[in-house]
Amino acid sequence: MHDPNEPFENLRPLDILAIAAHPDDVEQTCGGTLIRMAEMGYRNGVLDLTAGDMGSRGTPELRIQESQAAAQHLLLSWRQNLRWPDARLENNVAARMTLAGVIRRIRPGVVILPYWTGRHPDHYRASELGYEACFLAGLRRLEEDVPPHRPFKILYSSLYANVTPSFVVDISGQFERRMAALLSYTSQYGDTDTASDLFPSHREVEERLASIARFYGNLIGVKYGEPFVVKEAMQVDDIVSMPVRSI
Ligand SMILES: [Zn+2]
Repeated sequence: MHDPNEPFENLRPLDILAIAAHPDDVEQTCGGTLIRMAEMGYRNGVLDLTAGDMGSRGTPELRIQESQAAAQHLLLSWRQNLRWPDARLENNVAARMTLAGVIRRIRPGVVILPYWTGRHPDHYRASELGYEACFLAGLRRLEEDVPPHRPFKILYSSLYANVTPSFVVDISGQFERRMAALLSYTSQYGDTDTASDLFPSHREVEERLASIARFYGNLIGVKYGEPFVVKEAMQVDDIVSMPVRSI
């Protein structure tokens, strides 16, 4: 694992970069896919934009510490936190330039973003910021001393979006590991006497996430799945070997 305080100048290229608003977002929405891709040999990273400083439980320092523990479960090669203000994320020039600078250095082929609509403004703001930064990162003259890079593929993690996914990744073999990653956030999901709607108990979280993963798994005929949306069409070269049974 890298040093979480390393300067961006020292970043090494990754295959996949997931950008999320809050620590523990990727653990809920695309962590199983990140684990599965790491098992296949890809180098993956996560950039969390805020440290969750508006949360009523824990401190930003603790959330970042917990996110580094979760990173071990997710088999990440890199995880960093920009510590932008939680619940007040803004899509402005400075934010886009910072994010584009990270993308130019990490040179991911695939970027995973939150789905572009949702209840929490930080989530759709992060989605929009991420997309615009990917575009900017490809402009040669943005920074003279760092070569341009535009990711080939942008995937939107749509687990909480209630939209039909473009595809679902089978995470049956990674589900338990993803759960362990999420439960690394003991300040958020530890069992306490004060479990409520806002802070569900450990057991409640496990049941909820298992039901959601079962729902998406069911769409492709496997136990657990994670859904994604892409804006472009999916290409198929061999219609005889397409997965997922129709009837
Ligand atoms: Zn979030």
